[in-house]
Formats: sequence, structure tokens, C-alpha cells
Amino acid sequence: MKKESVTSQGETEICAVCYDKLCNPVDLPETFVLHAEYKIDKDEFKNSVTIMPCNHRFHFLCLVMWLDQSQTCPTCRNPVKSDSQYDKDQQQARVDELHNSMYS
Ligand SMILES: [Zn+2]
Ligand SMILES: [Zn+2]
Repeated sequence: MKKESVTSQGETEICAVCYDKLCNPVDLPETFVLHAEYKIDKDEFKNSVTIMPCNHRFHFLCLVMWLDQSQTCPTCRNPVKSDSQYDKDQQQARVDELHNSMYS
């Protein structure tokens, strides 16, 4: 086993997506394809760790994969309100509410 750029940060912390230590690089399957909207280089981000608004930390690539499936934090399930999608959902919720109150 070779050890790579281990930082003092996150040395024992576990990524809740892949259950590997944050200091270990992400082991991506060969078939893994990133969403086109993420214009990133897989190899460049294998060692990247990212912090959620709720202060939970994950491998950057793990988080990208996770958020593709679910807009919540893998650890605490807090909704991720990163972009306009959140506002759209809120708007849709209000419309649904209105609709329900009118037709129930
Ligand atoms: Zn991970
Ligand atoms: Zn969290």
C-alpha cells in the first residue's frame, strides 16, 4: 500500500459516502462518468475533500456522485440548498399548497 499526500486534516475522518478515510484518495470505478456539468478532471480531484454547509466533510468526488442522486447531506440528511433548484422547489411547494387548498 502506498501512502499519498496525507494531510493532518481529516486523517481519521471517514467519508460517509464511500466509508473510506478522507485522507485516502477516492477509488473510482473505471465506468464512472461525471455529469457533463461538472467540468472537472477526475484525477485532479481524487484527493480533494470538500466541506458541506453543515460542516460535514466528504471526498469531493463522492459528494458529487451523491448529490447526483440525492440533494441531502450523506451524514445528517440536511437538504443541500446550493443553487436555484432550491428556490424552484420552494416555489413548486407553494404552488402545490395553493392548488391543494383550492381543490380539497
Ligand atoms: Zn469518499
Ligand atoms: Zn451534514
